[in-house]
Amino acid sequence: MQVTFRIHRFDPEKQPVPKMQTFVLDNVKPTDAVLDILHRIKWEQDGSLTFRRSCAHGICGSCGMRVNNRNMLACSTLLQDLNLRKPIKVEPLPGMPPLKDLVVDMTRFYEKYEAVKPYLVAKSVLPEKERHQSNEDAERLIEAAKCILCGCCTAACPSAWTDERFLGPAALLKAYRFIFDTRDEATDERLDIIDSPNGIWRCRTVFNCVEACPKDIDVTGHLSQLKRAAVARQL
Ligand code: SF4
Repeated sequence: MQVTFRIHRFDPEKQPVPKMQTFVLDNVKPTDAVLDILHRIKWEQDGSLTFRRSCAHGICGSCGMRVNNRNMLACSTLLQDLNLRKPIKVEPLPGMPPLKDLVVDMTRFYEKYEAVKPYLVAKSVLPEKERHQSNEDAERLIEAAKCILCGCCTAACPSAWTDERFLGPAALLKAYRFIFDTRDEATDERLDIIDSPNGIWRCRTVFNCVEACPKDIDVTGHLSQLKRAAVARQL
């Protein structure tokens, strides 16, 4: 099978205005992932093509990009799930400054992640063995804990596009993961962070984050629970 790809090219040192470049590949299989194709283009046609990748198995979150106008992981997106009658368009994640080709600057994304204190805070005396948690309490965190920080949700969020101070869905989901952790002892401090001008109330419940998440996390549902927790504290 022959498939045509249109790939975003940008090199601030040589060609500061982005353009789309066409690549035609033969012997493509429907079960090839978009990441396989990017590797083939890099190895067979243009070694300068730049993109992030690491595990190639949907675990590391490195290869988030925009394929046919949707944010997704290149390693988890098979050609058989795309419309192959038209050229397949591959672009960098939107809403983040482009650095080169398909690579974006995620500095702000990680600053927001850090801002929600993405670690357990437990200052009380450590029990003899470990801090216990019931299965039911752990169950409440499992879906949020599946997040691989690919950034696809935040890069799909109109509120994040228009207000770069907004914490965004990925950071807020991480806040959820610790606010509802029964072992954590910084709930009030965490609620102060999310119940702030750049926090949870900038979420307009658009659901783009849910559509974009490659781990099928109900991001908006978790953010709604954060809103309820913030209101409950006020009451
Ligand atoms: Fe990626 Fe989903 Fe985590 Fe957002 S919530 S960063 S889309 S894995």
